[in-house]
Amino acid sequence: MVAVGQLVFAPLGGVGEIGMNLAIYGLGDERRRTWLVVDVGTSFAQEEQMPGIDLMFPDIGFLIEERRNIAGIVLTHAHEDHYGAMLDLWPRLRVPVFATPFTAAMLEAKRNGEPGASDVPVKVVPPGARFAVGPFDVELVSVAHSIPESNALILRTPHGNVLHTGDWKLDPNPVIGPPTDEAKLRALGAEGCLAMIGDSTNAVRDGRSPSESDVARSLAELIATAPGRVAVTTFASNVARIRAVADAARACDREVVLVGRAMERVVQVARETGHLEDVQDFRSQEAYGYLPPDKVLALCTGSQGEPRAALARIAQDEHPEVTLSRGDRVIFSSRPIPGNEKAIGRVINGLIDQGIEVITDRTHLVHVSGHPRRAEMEDLIGWVKPGLIVPVHGEALHLAEHAALARRLGYPTLSCRNGDLVLLAPGKPSVIDKIPAGRLYKDGRILVAGDSRTIADRRRLSFSGIVVVAIALTGKGDVAAEPQVELIGVPEREPGGRAIADIAHEAAIDTLENLPRARRRDPDSAAEAVRRAGGLSRGGPA
Ligand SMILES: [Zn+2]
Ligand SMILES: [Zn+2]
Repeated sequence: MVAVGQLVFAPLGGVGEIGMNLAIYGLGDERRRTWLVVDVGTSFAQEEQMPGIDLMFPDIGFLIEERRNIAGIVLTHAHEDHYGAMLDLWPRLRVPVFATPFTAAMLEAKRNGEPGASDVPVKVVPPGARFAVGPFDVELVSVAHSIPESNALILRTPHGNVLHTGDWKLDPNPVIGPPTDEAKLRALGAEGCLAMIGDSTNAVRDGRSPSESDVARSLAELIATAPGRVAVTTFASNVARIRAVADAARACDREVVLVGRAMERVVQVARETGHLEDVQDFRSQEAYGYLPPDKVLALCTGSQGEPRAALARIAQDEHPEVTLSRGDRVIFSSRPIPGNEKAIGRVINGLIDQGIEVITDRTHLVHVSGHPRRAEMEDLIGWVKPGLIVPVHGEALHLAEHAALARRLGYPTLSCRNGDLVLLAPGKPSVIDKIPAGRLYKDGRILVAGDSRTIADRRRLSFSGIVVVAIALTGKGDVAAEPQVELIGVPEREPGGRAIADIAHEAAIDTLENLPRARRRDPDSAAEAVRRAGGLSRGGPA
């Protein structure tokens, strides 16, 4: 192959933030590049920062314009921060999608759970496969993580090979699926690796993360010694953890009852794709009440304190079938995602108040992260020996720690942020351009741009309240009725004791009386004048 043009990389999400990963690779030159998209992820919005917003997506305006030049999308794994925006964004791109069986089945199950979501055709490729996506020669590398079928990608191009690590860790016994494919990664090192685009999530942590099998042992002990009922909550997508809990329950003769739709969905997909093959059948929720307390285990959604999820409803004694009482044991086989601590605290306190024992990862090895700590990162870098390390998948601190570790090992690094177009080859790697990047917010069923008025207005409303002045004007500009004033979240009286509604009313009348008729005939102009008089922010003319 003759190397023509350039090999470039750009993150459109996930760099400088946790969540909504979307990376693009380009082959060609500035006049025309062919793109490979890796992952189309989402982020959950923090309620207090984004009132009324459920989800955030990377802004893909650039990709929509470049649609005809996109060879395809490869999904590394089925975590929401990597594939969660597919149902909403793919219809705007309609390009080929590649994923392994579990990821494809998860996407299909998700689509079935969202009425009206469009069908996303996926070309299913087996783990470890090598296939062409336009000019990109893509090879999957199985990696251990916290969901089945996680993949790193080797991209072979005329300019050299790139390793896109995706989310990974080293775990000699991951309970489900093979360990990270060390042989393939070492072979890549021998073949030559131009650049590694790598997961930075746990770069602040020394040493190695414990194995999923260590967690399984600890869970088995805690489940075997529980005096009454046991409930375990974990991330629904962590099939290895579900398996560990199922094995532990079987070892002490407890039946497993799944509680929560997400848990049921993942278990069904995992069974269909062969990841829970020798695991016993689970019992229905109706069976829960009939089983003796020491013969049942509830595996629940709600590890993040989500108020509508199974565990919160059980803690509030609002679940129709599943109840817990004094002396029962609840295990949080999870870690709080930053921002969820308060919600989780509410659930835990609710349980403890009922005399239920709560076990978390603060005191027991009941959870491990799916991301590599420093010693694991050192191993990978030693196998692959990349010519350049580009830290991604993390906040600024994680990225900086990843880069510092790489430099200590003697490897060059390049720092970039969402929207930076990075030249990987030929020549010295550097940021050569900016491409539009930003956020989209999902507001109910509507997508709005991150810089739109809606979000800013709602955030302001959550601090400052509103005064609504309704004015009726005739077509000729005459006042048709008394202005109506309504206060929402505003004190009734100003410090001097005057009613704020009266002040707004007077301001509206004075303004209208002094406004030339020509301006009164224009609803926009009249509304703006009244707003200024009241020091209010502008609504729509009614
Ligand atoms: Zn992941
Ligand atoms: Zn991730």
